[in-house]
Amino acid sequence: MKITEHIANAKGKTLYSFEILPPIKGQGIQAIFDAIDPLMEFNPPFIDVTYLREDYIYKQHANGLLEKVAYRKRPSTVATCAAIMNKYKVDAVPHLICGGFTKEETENALIDLQFLGIDNVLVLRGDARKSDASFIPTPGGHAYASDLLQHVVNMNSGRYLHEDMENSEKTNFCIGVAGYPEKHFESPNLDTDFGYLKKKVALGADFIVTQMFFDNSKFKAFVDKCRANGITIPIIPGLKPLTSRKQLVGLPKIFHLDIPLALSEAVQACKTDQNVREVGIEWMIQQCKELKEMDAPVLHFYTMGNPNPTKRIIKAVF
Ligand code: FAD
Repeated sequence: MKITEHIANAKGKTLYSFEILPPIKGQGIQAIFDAIDPLMEFNPPFIDVTYLREDYIYKQHANGLLEKVAYRKRPSTVATCAAIMNKYKVDAVPHLICGGFTKEETENALIDLQFLGIDNVLVLRGDARKSDASFIPTPGGHAYASDLLQHVVNMNSGRYLHEDMENSEKTNFCIGVAGYPEKHFESPNLDTDFGYLKKKVALGADFIVTQMFFDNSKFKAFVDKCRANGITIPIIPGLKPLTSRKQLVGLPKIFHLDIPLALSEAVQACKTDQNVREVGIEWMIQQCKELKEMDAPVLHFYTMGNPNPTKRIIKAVF
């Protein structure tokens, strides 16, 4: 079912969902089920599965020469989605990125998703490879999420890359895009970034999932700005509880967000990471209660392989 239908069926009740990472290469699917099982008693209507682009590693040969080899650490987004749908009978939402795909490969991946009965995709540009200073598009691939979005919209209208194809079946994907209440880190300012979000919505995005944030006033300002600019599609807040002291530096560095003073002071006063987890979970419970009051359609958790903090939060909030 489409995410927009899940939201409509909920008739104003806030839903909850979460995101997982596909298994590390060499790990079995059971590792993923173990991370999902504790969260299923609260009936999430959908589960997102991230997509990790290939990176480069260097292999040393006996003669001392280094060989640059492309390597994907977590290769199985589509298969993980299929396994989740098969086992739990919930919708799985694959993240589809520009990086690492030619347009032809993107189209073939979308055909696979359609045949697997996957109704939703979250389209993203994707992160830069760790070995690159900034995002480098794949030759023959899409450069921005809006280009990838246009590709999915075209297929939803029965237009494939090979325009001479006749009687092409229309795909029927519900399409999500990313939004940044505190702006995307590469953007010179909030308004420029917002302009590109407006473009994604005008092209046909059906829902927005936000980057994580720890200050609900930033989310509220973002939603207000969207509504004032005629963006009426559902806006789903992305959430992650703080679970260790090092995240005080790590999360702002990776995700380019602000941690409110009250939260950072409370974390700094903690003696152990166990105390930090308690502070982070309590903060997130309060955030979630407020977001429900604000009629957020879904509370979407970035679990990052650890279901336990999310489970406690959901228990306290729903
Ligand atoms: P875009 O919308 O393409 O924007 C990228 C940057 O370019 C922004 O600064 C924007 O302002 C600017 N821009 C947009 N269009 C144009 C244009 N036409 N001309 C010039 N500038 C433009 N990454 C992964 O690799 N895998 C994942 O599974 C993943 N999941 C995510 C889930 C969510 C909910 C979020 C919020 C992020 C996720 N990311 C993931 C991270 C995301 O890929 C990065 O933040 C990436 O840097 C930007 O992706 P985007 O889709 O927002 O890009």
